[in-house]
Amino acid sequence: MTLLACTICRLPVLELDGQFENLEPYYITPGDPAAALAGECHSVCLEGSPHGPTWFRWRRDGYTSGRSYVIAAERDGWTVLRHQRLRELLAFHELGTSVGAERRAGQKKAAPWKEGVLLEVDEQFNLALDDDDVIAEIKAGLRDAGRFPIGRLLDALGIADKMRWSEVLSPAVFVHDHALEEDWMAGAVSMRARYSKYLPPVVAEVWRAL
Ligand SMILES: [Zn+2]
Repeated sequence: MTLLACTICRLPVLELDGQFENLEPYYITPGDPAAALAGECHSVCLEGSPHGPTWFRWRRDGYTSGRSYVIAAERDGWTVLRHQRLRELLAFHELGTSVGAERRAGQKKAAPWKEGVLLEVDEQFNLALDDDDVIAEIKAGLRDAGRFPIGRLLDALGIADKMRWSEVLSPAVFVHDHALEEDWMAGAVSMRARYSKYLPPVVAEVWRAL
């Protein structure tokens, strides 16, 4: 499967945690013009969309009407929901964007940044593109150097300016995992992605108390 196009700017969406939104169609009020955004979009595109506040209300109301989440904090435009049983939070910004985080013993490192925290993400990343040259370049980088800068892929996809808090991503890398190399195919590569995700101050406060 290749990358989905952003429902707002039509450029590809790279699924980096904290940088894109998955707008589920089941929240939609039928007939509302904001419904056209259902699908995946860049977080920065949603922030600039007149329909962002509608998706904020739809998603916040959807999550708070169930029994799993309670509101833990509301400040700076953020509504932060804490899971009732699990050490997980979900935060929605009034402009439409979201960020989620969990806390597991000894799993994630956090570093203070801009009064919030940076959480380390280390996840398996499967990438398929129509552009064989880009995939081949990533494979060569992984084999030769063990890693490939995620920023170089963002440039190749033309979406470097679709990242928020983009300086956070400058050290971001794809990392070679020999076990995953068995899954490599023409036009597709599996690897690990290591990068940081930013939690703004009010979200970080709830995260620290999880
Ligand atoms: Zn976009």
